[in-house]
Parts: sequence; structure tokens; C-alpha cells
Amino acid sequence: MHTLGAIEAGGTKFVCAVGREDGTVLERISFPTTTPEATMASVIHFFEDKEIEAIGVGSFGPVDPNKQSPTYGYITTTPKPHWAHYDMLGELRRRFNMPMEFDTDVNGAALGEMTWGAARGLQNCLYITVGTGIGAGAIANGRVIHGLAHPEMGHLLLRRHPQDPYAGGCPYHGDCLEGLAAGPAIEARWGVKASELGADHLAWEIEADYLAKALMSYVLVLSPEKIIMGGGVMKQEQLFPLIRGRFQQLMNAYVQKPQVLADIDTYIVAPQLGDNAGICGALALASKALGLKIG
Ligand code: ADP
Ligand code: ZN
Repeated sequence: MHTLGAIEAGGTKFVCAVGREDGTVLERISFPTTTPEATMASVIHFFEDKEIEAIGVGSFGPVDPNKQSPTYGYITTTPKPHWAHYDMLGELRRRFNMPMEFDTDVNGAALGEMTWGAARGLQNCLYITVGTGIGAGAIANGRVIHGLAHPEMGHLLLRRHPQDPYAGGCPYHGDCLEGLAAGPAIEARWGVKASELGADHLAWEIEADYLAKALMSYVLVLSPEKIIMGGGVMKQEQLFPLIRGRFQQLMNAYVQKPQVLADIDTYIVAPQLGDNAGICGALALASKALGLKIG
């Protein structure tokens, strides 16, 4: 067994952990995300005496995950103050001389769920987070999808729900999926905290409608074998049956597979790793950095 470092770099908080390639987490720490300098100093301080052999980073984005690019390992155009164009991987490399793997938080989580969680044994899966923003990571034919940069599935344009008066809050696109269905959009639409809306509120029907429309596009384009939905908003467990039902209604049995017909309850699921999906994802990335066979 190897000793691995894992970093879940979130826009609100960072989680650092030491673990092993079987997914065991030995020790972890969490602190709020402040400036890059102060935050990365805490990260470095945590790992300094840990004798780790590799580091995996799953980061909020957008990021540059392309190893050939001069800005590989950077956070790129984030609106988050101080973090735009920040060389996160470079800072780690200046301090630690070991293999590292850097990817988006959702790509990491998809890899973690495929290695140890809900998508174990599969080759194609999707991990979606619905929180402050909406993002998704996809694995196709056993490999994390990268491209020009990485997919940005949170910004799809969708047909509007007929009872939705809200204009949408995405600074780039207004009423894209994230602008309509991320946590802050729900709160702007209804004027209350999303966690305080009753389980039978119209808010959740509208939310499920938008998420189901997005899932339909993802399924038609990527054909995932499992869809895992996490993030703060998905703590509203009543969303799962609403999303599954609306998804089936919209799909109208067009994809003739048991997963989207009778077995929908095991097709669209919560993360099996629970709140550990992110940090286990980073651990999976660290294992990948060492070239280990994980699982
Ligand atoms: P982040 O996106 O920063 O990683 P989260 O995934 O926890 O963090 O998302 C935070 C957002 O999720 C908040 O904007 C809030 O609107 C929403 N949220 C958090 N908890 C709940 C809850 N229990 N019910 C509904 N929405 C929630
Ligand atoms: Zn957008």
C-alpha cells in the first residue's frame, strides 16, 4: 500500500486528506477557502510531515487539465476573487517533488465513484453536482473526458418551465441550467434559503424539470451507464423521484434500456461515497498519478 495525498479544492472550503489506493482515508483536515496564498500555505503545512508519495487535486473551476498546455494546473477564468489565472499545481510542485494529477472536482468525483462507489465496475458514468454552481464530470470508455479544456455541462440552454418567472442568474448566459437551477438561483427565485423550502413546494417540481431536461441531453450525447447526483441542493431527497419521473416522461422510452425504464431508481442515484465523493476523487487522482491499479 502507498501513502497518498488528496486535495479537494472547493470554492467555499478545501479538504486535504492522506489515504491509500484502496480508498481508505487515514487523516483529513478542512479549512475555508480564502486567498490563494493563505489557503495553499495551509495545504502545504498539512502535507509537510506526512510522507506522501503522490498528490491528487480535484479543483473548482474552470481549470486547465491539459498536460500539454502551458497553463496546465491553473484555475483559469473563475469569477472568484483572487483565484483567476492562479497556478495551483505550480505552487504544489515548488514544494513537493512527486507525481501529481490535477483535474476538476467533478471529474475527480466521477473517477472516485467509478473506482469505489456507485459506478464501480462500469466504464461510462456521469457525476453531477448541484450546489453553488452546476458542474458535471464524465467518464467515457474508462477515461475522464477532457478536450479543449473540460466539458462545461452546467451551462446548457434548456426549454423554460412555463410557471417559472425567474430570469436566470448566470453572469454569462442568464437562463442556462446553472442560471436556473443552482442553489443561488432557487434562492433568488423564491426569496428564501433553498434548505427552508418545504418538500412539496413548487420549487422542487421546477428544479426537477430543469435537471431532468439536462439529464436527457447528457444521456443522449454521452450514453452514461450510471448518473450520480451530488451537491448541496441534492440533499433535498424528494428531488430524486421527481427527477426520475420527469426524465422518463421526457425521454418517452426512446432509449430502450432497462436502466432508463424499469431500473431508473438504480440509474439516477446519490453518491455512494456520500460527502466523501470529492476527497475520494482526489485520492483516485493521486493513485492515477502513481500509475496504480486502483479499486
Ligand atoms: P459548493 O457548491 O460550494 O461546493 P454545496 O454543494 O454545498 O457547496 O452547495 C451550496 C448550495 O447548495 C447553496 O447555495 C445552497 O443554496 C444549496 N444547499 C445547501 N444545502 C441545502 C439543502 N439542505 N437543501 C437545499 N439546498 C441546499
Ligand atoms: Zn451559464
